[in-house]
This record gives sequence, C-alpha cells and structure tokens, in this order.
Amino acid sequence: MAPNPENKYDFIIAGMGCAGLSLAMQLKSSSVQFNKVLLVDRDLKQTNDRTWCFWSKHELNWLNPIVFRKWQQFKFKSQNIDKTIQLGAYSYLMIRGIDFYSYCLTALRTDARFEILTEDIKNIGTENDWAFLETKNNRFIAEQLFNSVFRNTQNNHKHLNYLQHFKGWMIEVAEDTFDPNLPLFMDFDIEQDNDCRFVYSLPISKTKALVEYTGFSKKGLEDNFYDLQLKKYIETKLTQKPYTIVDVEKGTIPMYESLFVNLYGERVINIGTAGGYSKPSTGYTFYFIQQNIQSLVAQLEKRKDKLHAPKRSNKYALYDNIFLDVIDQKKIEARSIFSDLFQKNDVQDLLAFLNEESSLLQDLRIMNSLPKTIFAGSAIKKLLS
Ligand SMILES: Cc1cc2nc3c(=O)[nH]c(=O)nc-3n(C[C@H](O)[C@H](O)[C@H](O)COP(=O)(O)OP(=O)(O)OC[C@H]3O[C@@H](n4cnc5c(N)ncnc54)[C@H](O)[C@@H]3O)c2cc1C
Repeated sequence: MAPNPENKYDFIIAGMGCAGLSLAMQLKSSSVQFNKVLLVDRDLKQTNDRTWCFWSKHELNWLNPIVFRKWQQFKFKSQNIDKTIQLGAYSYLMIRGIDFYSYCLTALRTDARFEILTEDIKNIGTENDWAFLETKNNRFIAEQLFNSVFRNTQNNHKHLNYLQHFKGWMIEVAEDTFDPNLPLFMDFDIEQDNDCRFVYSLPISKTKALVEYTGFSKKGLEDNFYDLQLKKYIETKLTQKPYTIVDVEKGTIPMYESLFVNLYGERVINIGTAGGYSKPSTGYTFYFIQQNIQSLVAQLEKRKDKLHAPKRSNKYALYDNIFLDVIDQKKIEARSIFSDLFQKNDVQDLLAFLNEESSLLQDLRIMNSLPKTIFAGSAIKKLLS
C-alpha cells in the first residue's frame, strides 16, 4: 500500500520522556534541515513522575532554565564515614520531571515543524527503506525513527542484569530541619541484607527533602518493604518531628551487562534507556542521554543519511562489567567498594570516571583505590569471556 503523504515525516520520535524530548529540543535548535517531526507518547506528561540528579562540569545550555537545585558539595556516609565533599569544578544538579516536560512541550508546541500525538504505540520497525510506527488507528512513516520505548525483550538474559530499584518520598516537616545546601549523596550506613543498599536525601528547602531507599540487585523489593525502610530511616536518622509525605516516586533502571540489541531494523535508532544509555554500574542515565543525543544531532547536522547509534566506549563497558561481576560474586560488600572510592579518591577523579570522561591517569588512580585481588579476578574473567 502506498504511504499516505499526510502520514510521512522526516523523523518520528517514539516516547516523549527524557530522551525523546531532549532529542526534539536539540533538533529544534540545531541546523538540521527538516519539515516535519512526529512525537508520540501514550502519556500526557503532566505529572512529576521523577526527579533527575546528575553531576556535570560542563555548561548545560538548553537545560539551564529548568535546573531546580544546584549544589557544590554533598555528603557521603557509610559505616564509620561521614564526609562532606566539595565538588570543585563539578556541580550536583536536580531537574524535576514536571518542569522538564512542560518546558519542552511548551517550546515544541510553538514550532510548527513538531506534531505531538498522544496514543499508545503498538508497533515500530523498518519496511521498504522506511521506518514505521503504528498505533491502534494510525500508521506513520519516516526516514528515521528514534525509539525510547523500552521493552525488556531487548535484554539478553545470559548476562548479568542488575536493576537499580528504588522508592522515594518527598517529605515535609513543619519546622526547619534540613540544610538545603548539603544533599546526602549516598548513605550506606543501613542494613545491607547481603545486598547493595543505600539511602539518599536531597533537601530542597529547610523543611522539605526527597528521601529515597535504593538497591542494586537482580530483582526489586516488595513495595511495603521500601515504605518500612524509608520510615525507619527518616525517623531514626533524619527527624523525630512529625512529617507528611507530599510526593512519592518509584522506579527501576536497568544495570545490564548485555549489549542492547536493535529489534527494529536499520531505520530505527533506540535512544535513552531503550538505547542502553543507563550506566550499568550505577543506573545513572540523564547525563548520558544528554551526551548521546548531542552526538546524534551532531551527526544529523553533518549528514542525515548513515546515522549510527552512539557506541559505548569499550573501556567503560569493561569497567562496568567488572564492577557488576564483583558485586555479584559478593566476596566483598558493595558498600565497602563505594566507601573506598569516596575515601581514597579526589572526588573530581571519581565524578569524571563515573561520567565516563576520565583520563587514563584518573582511571589508574581509581583502580589503585580498589581491592586489587578481587577486581583483578573479575577483570581476568571478563577479559577472557
Ligand atoms: C523515578 C525515576 C527516577 C530517576 N532518577 C534518575 C536520576 O536521578 N538520575 C539519572 O541519571 N537517571 C534517573 N533515572 C533514570 C533515567 O534517567 C530515566 O528513566 C529517564 O526518564 C529515561 O529516559 P527515557 O527517555 O529513556 O525513558 P522515559 O523518560 O521513561 O520515556 C519513555 C516514554 O515512553 C512512553 N511509552 C512507553 N511505552 C509506550 C507505548 N507503548 N506507547 C506510547 N508511549 C509509550 C512513556 O510514557 C515515556 O514517556 C530515573 C528513573 C526513574 C524511573
């Protein structure tokens, strides 16, 4: 059947979350030539369903107007460690989902090149040199489709596939309780249950803080377990004053050793979590979405054909796989690895390393701070596999 020209686009973006909207915004301000872009999501994106934190030493450019909080220091805690760390060239930043969605959607609605459709995506793929996207009642085609709708079938179950799983409460206390200038980046001084567990607490004012209970493991936990742990942590470590829960967020982020496969053919590029942008050793994704989308748009600015999905550096993929193997072997508690990382390193080396922008010298300093025999065993295993 010949395609209906009405339904033909330069680009289709499947999913209007962090990756889809970041791509649309970067396309909008780029020199890429296009007439029509279709964005499709089943959700109207009108709720604050997540809060993103990340660190950066670079200018954020288009994200600047929606940075909700910016810190120059944070605290790291573990057994017998309570350390306030100055971040130097780095800032630790918070962006609220709702601010991000409304900022992007408002900007895109004023640009006639972008069409926004709220429908459930049923299918996407490549057919006869065109990418297609199907909803219940419509079929759209484009020269290039960017897909951020994550489906677990992309995952290769033979590999180590951990999850970062978490639940958080935004709590409010009637009296001044928190120091809004000092977020708690990680507190490992909690029951580990033979696993990797920590809490973080991000004060957004003297009376309000987002507190999240987080684990790295192969499966998430029962919902009420997170609630019990949050309650226990808040009441024993943060405040004995009465508090109210004003917002809740919950999620899982893939920490997968396996490479993400593209199931949809050459006209589709997976982006965001679906593109494997979540860092396997930490679950952090936001910063990598921005970096990868920037590199895709730079490719498009040079030439629209022959677009390649950004490739992960082999070096960091190996480091992440070694880390996952070490935590999976459980010869050493994961919290003791994080404690070594934060106790023995310059934080700027560590943040550069975790953002995948470190030099070889910085890498060597980080490696030197870790238990060598255990890491060497996993390194040999991963290099030979
Ligand atoms: C609660 C939470 C907090 C997080 N916090 C951080 C953080 O602090 N720092 C960090 O680096 N990372 C964080 N992440 C991880 C990551 O940054 C986010 O998940 C980020 O939103 C991923 O962007 P994305 O575009 O890949 O996916 P999403 O933002 O989830 O976007 C995917 C979109 O696809 C849509 N969709 C899905 N299925 C369909 C369908 N069938 N039809 C139509 N639309 C569909 C969804 O509605 C959604 O809008 C967090 C994740 C969660 C869940």
